[in-house]
Amino acid sequence: MKPTTEEEVKPEVVGTDKADIIPPTSLAKRYGSRIILTTYPGQSGVEPTSLIWGAEDPQKRGPVIVSRAGQTMKYRNAIGAHGGSYSIYNALAIAGGDLDMDFRPNFFNTEPTFKFKPNKAWADPSAIVSMDPYGHEVASLYTGYIEKGLDVRPTIAITRASMRVAEIAEAVKNGVLPVDGEIVMTQEGDVRVTKVAVEPVWHLPGVAKRFNIDEGKLRRALFEHTGGMYPELITRPDLEVFLPPIGGLTVYIFGPPEKVSDPNVKLACRVHDECNGSDVFQSDICTCRPYLAFGIQEAIREAQNGGSGICIYFRKEGRALGEVVKYLVYNSRKRGGDTADKYFARTENIAGVRDMRFQELMPDILHWLGVTKIDRMLSMSNMKHDAIVGSGIPILERIPIPDEMIPEDSRVEIDAKINAGYFTTGKAYTDAELKQVKGRGWEKWEDVAH
Ligand SMILES: [Zn+2]
Repeated sequence: MKPTTEEEVKPEVVGTDKADIIPPTSLAKRYGSRIILTTYPGQSGVEPTSLIWGAEDPQKRGPVIVSRAGQTMKYRNAIGAHGGSYSIYNALAIAGGDLDMDFRPNFFNTEPTFKFKPNKAWADPSAIVSMDPYGHEVASLYTGYIEKGLDVRPTIAITRASMRVAEIAEAVKNGVLPVDGEIVMTQEGDVRVTKVAVEPVWHLPGVAKRFNIDEGKLRRALFEHTGGMYPELITRPDLEVFLPPIGGLTVYIFGPPEKVSDPNVKLACRVHDECNGSDVFQSDICTCRPYLAFGIQEAIREAQNGGSGICIYFRKEGRALGEVVKYLVYNSRKRGGDTADKYFARTENIAGVRDMRFQELMPDILHWLGVTKIDRMLSMSNMKHDAIVGSGIPILERIPIPDEMIPEDSRVEIDAKINAGYFTTGKAYTDAELKQVKGRGWEKWEDVAH
């Protein structure tokens, strides 16, 4: 029944006994008179499209269908929403009237600039559990569904770009990296890069297995600690795929992308977790941007030597704790006498853990790219190393950040990490020595008058 006046709209809530409903608005009218809070397996109007995770043939595997828009709702086979946390802005645009709720993207000319060849990991349900291996080819593989009006969207996009990073420009200027006309294009340090953006698509049974936890426990925790946002995590055990609101990444590839998976050439790799304060705004309290720049430099160098270089940038701001927690930790460090021996305790006091960047899902992208070994790993993290090697990709050499690239104030962080087992070819401090590694205080900074 299509309501015609405001009065006729009396939303009926499906999936709960509660009747306290937000009053209808003109937008609510367009959604229809029934608000579906959740669905159940076998319920009338629920006909999930077949989705066989790990099936070799993408047609047999089936598209990931998560939208609740229009008739797509009936055929959903995944929980969550497209765009990760950006789904909120999408909702705002629709609520504000800037975007039609029935809008469907036109995918003309959006296809990848490089076509990655499927490899056996794409059809291995345990090798890839946190991204859709066919996420970049949705528009060509699942045309039939899209033409029928179903809202099916890519979760991977591949493009080409030019980039200019200050440290790389400096390296080119100083002759550390030559201008080769293929990768480093100009004396000013312009570099050609292929970029792969990936939104997370989780196969819940596979994710649970990766963390060695019960799937029911995982679903319950995800439901409870996202404010009850995804009730189908509980009511739809038949839906195994979840698009979480965070967990995206970008791969930066230097040199021909086909070389990334070529076992006959060397691969340099930096796996980097986001640190906006350092990566973009060049805070000197940590080594993030210097290590990122070093990783890019070495990735370019390997590509220039006839091999390949990749830098994988994960959106895990502040050890996946977010910037608010990160700044609270900074305050507690700086006000408490910032010494390396107390570095981890400061985070644990506030966040409960020293690090929330669990690396269990990280190797998926390497398997998707077809990486079979990493010749030069630009990272000192044991968590990253162990996750990659444990997933079956050997790391032949680990390269720490050169000492001269470590900002003075970040010695607290790096020495604490090395003491805790981070890889180094240099000095590992003892517990007693860590007490002597001090960060810059706030004596000349903090406005005590307030
Ligand atoms: Zn940082």
